[in-house]
Amino acid sequence: MSLIPPSRVFPPPERLLLGPGPSQVHPRVLAALGLPLVGHLDPAFVALMEETKRMLREVFGTKNDLTIPISGTGSAGLEATIVNLVEPGDEVVIGVNGVFGTRLTDVAERAGASVVRAEAPWGEVVPPETIAAALGRARKPRLLALVHAETSTGAWQPLEEASRLAHEHGALFVIDCVTSLGGCPVDIDRMGVDAAYSGTQKCLSCPPGLSPVTFGPRAVERLRARTHQVRSWYLDLTMLEKYWGEERVYHHTAPISMNYALYEALRVVLEEGLDARFARHRRSHEALVAGLEALGLEMAVAPGRRLWMLTSVRIPAGVDDAAVRRALLEDDHIEIGGGLGPLKGQTWRIGLMGESSTEANVRRLLSALGRLLPRHGFACDAESGVAAAGRAYGAA
Ligand SMILES: *Cc1c(COP(=O)(O)O)cnc(C)c1O
Repeated sequence: MSLIPPSRVFPPPERLLLGPGPSQVHPRVLAALGLPLVGHLDPAFVALMEETKRMLREVFGTKNDLTIPISGTGSAGLEATIVNLVEPGDEVVIGVNGVFGTRLTDVAERAGASVVRAEAPWGEVVPPETIAAALGRARKPRLLALVHAETSTGAWQPLEEASRLAHEHGALFVIDCVTSLGGCPVDIDRMGVDAAYSGTQKCLSCPPGLSPVTFGPRAVERLRARTHQVRSWYLDLTMLEKYWGEERVYHHTAPISMNYALYEALRVVLEEGLDARFARHRRSHEALVAGLEALGLEMAVAPGRRLWMLTSVRIPAGVDDAAVRRALLEDDHIEIGGGLGPLKGQTWRIGLMGESSTEANVRRLLSALGRLLPRHGFACDAESGVAAAGRAYGAA
């Protein structure tokens, strides 16, 4: 191994990020990452922490006091939520219709829970009857967890009925809103969500590295009533809330620059306004679908269940998944995602998250696909995609 350092700084290639995350980052957020550091207990940093909590509450749609960014990516928020709410031997019900529901079951089992799965095929949502039946199979379910926006498939899970069912069974209602937060309504308080976690690199358009979580009164009560210590020292909210609360007790050094970035990203989100931001995600998605269908492609998720920020499209028979994605990346500098699990090789996942969700990006992708697909064995009218998207934008 060479001991000589590379002769130049890392040169990231130019990319347009239209995959399942990370998404495009606003230049103001990139600039915030380069600001000089202050100490993590500096009064100026404490002021930034307070503003961050206030803005996060607004974006989550909650009054929850315990609303903070966990240090780590979305999976750290997932693990924090589970290990703080679950004690060994608890029964939990988890909706499983993709990668992230599956990950929730893994984390819950490692935390000592016994998991009852409410399953649905990948690409579909978990229906209320399945949720009710799973809650009924558990003797005393501690919580029901659902993935609001299943990024692995593009399915949009409805919450209202599930929230009611969870509470009828005396269970906490927990959601994964890693991909939905900042792209479509999440409304924590209105939906009766007791605890939720998100991530920075999807519709908040910030680099990966922090995971906003929010715990409501019932979840905090559960935390106080625990009879076992939280099984993770790093993610123990009873300690983290003392750093993010009035006491400012040192726990671990907050990732200063990432918190600058999140602060700026939240300012960008709120300056646009949540309703305008959601409408932009919806418009871009509808134009993308119109364009893809005009090219002759089929969507993998049924209408009415499709996420605005992640569109799954079926790869036509005979087309080489990896070759098309490689050509898009190398020739057009566009990243899209492949399918996961049972959908591997079956679907492409196109993310229009946060800053990525623009008319120019939709047109650029459709134009590239229109040129590429015929070369990879799928006959289509190259210009038809962009034209259909243009009409959809015009009609919106
Ligand atoms: C991305 C994602 C996660 C995991 O986040 P990481 O930042 O990759 O750790 C969890 N849930 C959903 C729905 C996601 O899209």
